[in-house]
Amino acid sequence: RESLLEVRDLKTYFYTEDGVIPSVDGVSFTIKKGETVAVVGESGSGKSVTSLSIMGLLDAAGKIESGTIIFEGNDVTKLSKKDRRKLRGNEMAMIFQEPLTSLNPLFTVGNQISEAIKIHQKVDKKEAKKRSIEILKKVGIARAEKIYHSYPHLLSGGMRQRVMIAIALSCNPKLLIADEPTTALDVTIQAQILQLMKELIKDKQTSILFITHDLGVVAEMADQVIVMYAGQVVEYTDVFTLFKEAAHPYTKSLLASTPKIHEQTEKLQVIEGTVPNPNAMPSGCRFHTRCPYVMEKCMNNEPVLTNIHNRHQVKCWLYEEEG
Ligand code: SF4
Ligand code: MG
Repeated sequence: RESLLEVRDLKTYFYTEDGVIPSVDGVSFTIKKGETVAVVGESGSGKSVTSLSIMGLLDAAGKIESGTIIFEGNDVTKLSKKDRRKLRGNEMAMIFQEPLTSLNPLFTVGNQISEAIKIHQKVDKKEAKKRSIEILKKVGIARAEKIYHSYPHLLSGGMRQRVMIAIALSCNPKLLIADEPTTALDVTIQAQILQLMKELIKDKQTSILFITHDLGVVAEMADQVIVMYAGQVVEYTDVFTLFKEAAHPYTKSLLASTPKIHEQTEKLQVIEGTVPNPNAMPSGCRFHTRCPYVMEKCMNNEPVLTNIHNRHQVKCWLYEEEG
C-alpha cells in the first residue's frame, strides 16, 4: 500500500520557564493509506504532542525543532499557517477525548455540523442540513432530527463523541487523528464507538492515527503499533507481533498491566515508578529507572531503535548485537 504520512525524526520541544522540554524526541513512523496506526504509552510519553505536531495545532510554547512530516509527498512543517489550516479542514481531521471542549456550547449540534459541511463540501444551507442529518444517522444517531436541534451539553458523552466523529468525517479526511476518543466513555459505549469508526473507514481508505494508553483498544483497532516512552519510540511493529512477542521491557510491563478484554481482573499489575520528569531525563536508556532488566551499560549509553525482525523495531540493549 502507498504511504500517506511519513514522520521522520520529529523533534518537538516546549519552551517553558523551567527550561526546554523535549516532548517528542526523534520519532519516526509511516502510515499507509487505509491503515490504522496506534500510538500507545502512558500520559507524558509524547503521544498527544506527536499528533498535535502533525495537525499543526501546537500552542505557542511548542515548536517543531527538526524532522519532517511528509503528507502525500509534501513536508507540512514547511507550509504557511493558511495552507496548514486548509489541510486541516480538508485532508486531516481530529477527534479528542472530551468532545464537550471541542463543541461550541452556544450553538446547536446541527448548526456546527452543517457549518462544517457548508465549508468543506461547498453546498447551500438547505443541502448542508440534509447532509448533516444523513451523517448523524450514519454515526448511529436514531433521532437525528431531534439531535440536530439539540445543544451539546444536553447530550450524553457517547452521543457527543458520535457528533464529533460526524463533524470530523464531514470533510472526508484522508487522515483521522483520534486522541483517546473513547477514554471518557463507559465500556459498552466505547465498544460501539470503536465499531462505528471501523465501519466508517472501511470503504473509504481513511487512515487513522489512534492515540491511546489502552492496549485493549490497540488490539481492537490497530494494524501497526508504536510504543512511546519519554518522547521516544521504544517499540514499533504490527499488532499481531506486539501481542505475540513484544520485546521491549516497557511494552511487556504495559501488556502485563492490561486486563484482557471482556475479562474482569481482580488485581492489576502496575508498572512501578512514573514517567521521568522531562526536565531531567534519565541518562542512557530513559526507561532504566523503571526497568526490571536494567544493566550497567543502560545507565549511560542510549540504545538505538534496531530491527530485530522484519518490521519489528526495538530500542533496548537486550536486543543489540555486541560490538
Ligand atoms: Fe531496560 Fe536496558 Fe533495555 Fe533500557 S536498554 S529497556 S534499561 S534492558
Ligand atoms: Mg494525551
